[in-house]
Amino acid sequence: MSTQEQLLENLSPEKLLQKHFGYSTFRPQQKEIIQHVIDGKDAVVLMPTGGGKSMCYQLPALMRRGLTVVISPLIALMKDQVQALQSNGIKAAYLNSSMLANEESLVKEELQKGSIKLLYVSPERLFSRNFLDYIGQLNVGLFAIDEAHCVSSWGHHFRPEYKKLSILKQVFKSVPVVALTATADRAVRGDISLLLNLNEAKYFISSFDRPNLSLAVLPGQNKWKQIEKILHRYQNKCGIIYCSSRAGTEKLAQQIHSLGFSAKAYHAGMKSDERSKTQDEFIQGNLKIVCATLAFGMGIDKSNVRFVIHHNMPGNLESYYQEVGRAGRDGQPAEAILFYSYRDVQTHLGFISKVKDQGYAKIQKAKLNRMQEYAEAQVCRRKILLSYFSELPEHDCENCDVCANPPKYFDGTKEAQMALSAVYRTEETISVSTLIDVLKGTHSTSVLEHKLETIKTFGAGKQITLFSWQLFIQQLIQQGYLEIDYKEHYNLKLNLLSRQVLFDSRSVRLVSPETIKDRQEKLKEKPKGIMNNVKVDESLFEHLKSLRKEIADKIKKPAFVVFGNASLLDMCEILPVTYDEFLNVTGVGEHKANLYAGIFTEAIKKFTSGKTQGDTYKETMPLYSS
Ligand code: ADP
Ligand code: ZN
Repeated sequence: MSTQEQLLENLSPEKLLQKHFGYSTFRPQQKEIIQHVIDGKDAVVLMPTGGGKSMCYQLPALMRRGLTVVISPLIALMKDQVQALQSNGIKAAYLNSSMLANEESLVKEELQKGSIKLLYVSPERLFSRNFLDYIGQLNVGLFAIDEAHCVSSWGHHFRPEYKKLSILKQVFKSVPVVALTATADRAVRGDISLLLNLNEAKYFISSFDRPNLSLAVLPGQNKWKQIEKILHRYQNKCGIIYCSSRAGTEKLAQQIHSLGFSAKAYHAGMKSDERSKTQDEFIQGNLKIVCATLAFGMGIDKSNVRFVIHHNMPGNLESYYQEVGRAGRDGQPAEAILFYSYRDVQTHLGFISKVKDQGYAKIQKAKLNRMQEYAEAQVCRRKILLSYFSELPEHDCENCDVCANPPKYFDGTKEAQMALSAVYRTEETISVSTLIDVLKGTHSTSVLEHKLETIKTFGAGKQITLFSWQLFIQQLIQQGYLEIDYKEHYNLKLNLLSRQVLFDSRSVRLVSPETIKDRQEKLKEKPKGIMNNVKVDESLFEHLKSLRKEIADKIKKPAFVVFGNASLLDMCEILPVTYDEFLNVTGVGEHKANLYAGIFTEAIKKFTSGKTQGDTYKETMPLYSS
């Protein structure tokens, strides 16, 4: 069959984008990728989270004959994607282990009829008994492999079943495959085409930069105080706080709740219905803050998350960037704040030491090193991040804590000598916290146990604050003047450099505590709110939101299935009062216009006429009735 015969609707990709999805223009790279895929060619797509990857196979699915099979490892994501497609009037379904037998046979009936355009399956499902043969009878027109980095053992989400996907290209020789991912370093990139057997695939690599996202790293001491400041700046706005432990998420959610904010915990130990309830509440905007373990947010498409806080440092930059990428998808200013303390590095090293596969452990350690370098950096953080993803920006970003408050250095030789000589006099048998006790002259258990109060340096740094000592010692480790012996209780060790400082008057340059204080002060500044940039009437926006919620409750679907916030904001700006005007709203395709134009344009009409008569706009809106 020629390419032309493979195509269904004789409309241009732009027209179809407008008709089915209600978007007037393509995002960067989308058009090229879509053209490539509808021409029947393989593609590997690297696009940051929120870049619009799904469109790269959803639109071709509508254009090509046959079924598009989407392989996705995340069951929650499948459900959302399918609901979103259905809400645009597109026939989509999923098959995974969470379904009942009768639900599954319903889907299969539809598949047999050929009425379904997109089928989402988990890799486990794909390789379950006879399933590939079954798929083989269905006239597959395209395969899309989502989260394609899972194929690489270099990746942080390696899934062994993904390697088996290489068989697709052998069995379905003429069916194009598009592999997509948001996170890929160089090694992973190479692996995707190699391991999936996509020898001829063209790579489409988008910029990973998210310029609206400001980046900051703050010391991991007194986190709660700092978090409080951040929360007060973001009254009524949505945010995610990632913690490393389940107990941590619960404690923090409770603390935040007691301040009067709406907050809940989310972790793998919760029952699955409780988890999806929390996730739904968050997506719908009834719940503002989620304190989550690292699993939260996989595949959630929520555009107005204003901040992501990392209560603990993740183990690699891929996870970190994917997690911070959940903030500011609407393109409005958003913030990513990482609390860093060396203890997090120790925790990760502890996990890595338990990994049996030595090769894998080595990779994880190398990745942890890069993450740590980022957290400790005194140069533009975005430059470090982007260079990790193989982009080389020419300029500093002016939207990270280092750019905003470049480091102020001072001659820290005296402080370094104090710390190093304390390590020397305790014969390299103490850890960071005991070293600080010694310098401050604190009679802690550990000091008393080792009788350290008698050594000469005990209390020598009394006049320097605890905060400053923590910073100084951290920097001495970073700059290589002190080493940590992981095998020996994390005790500090001296080396050639430290001896030069102690005995050869080598000088040491340290970043001043004021630099860090200045960066912390920034936490108090009011953010540029989303509403400030767009001229919309907040009362109308709130009303449209409640209208949306009413509909969502009625059809028992999450609110985003009705409209995303971007669509509601656009309605507030355009104020559409006719069907045709309603079609101009972003995210409104023909299907949604048919369903909702009446209700929303009526509401807007009432609003605008109320305004012109000088009335205050009140509960005069029509309520949804089916
Ligand atoms: P990714 O998978 O890359 O993280 P998605 O595919 O979920 O991103 O897309 C993110 C959001 O952007 C979705 O709400 C999607 O509908 C929207 N989107 C995709 N393409 C466009 C476009 N061309 N114009 C406007 N919005 C788009
Ligand atoms: Zn910067």
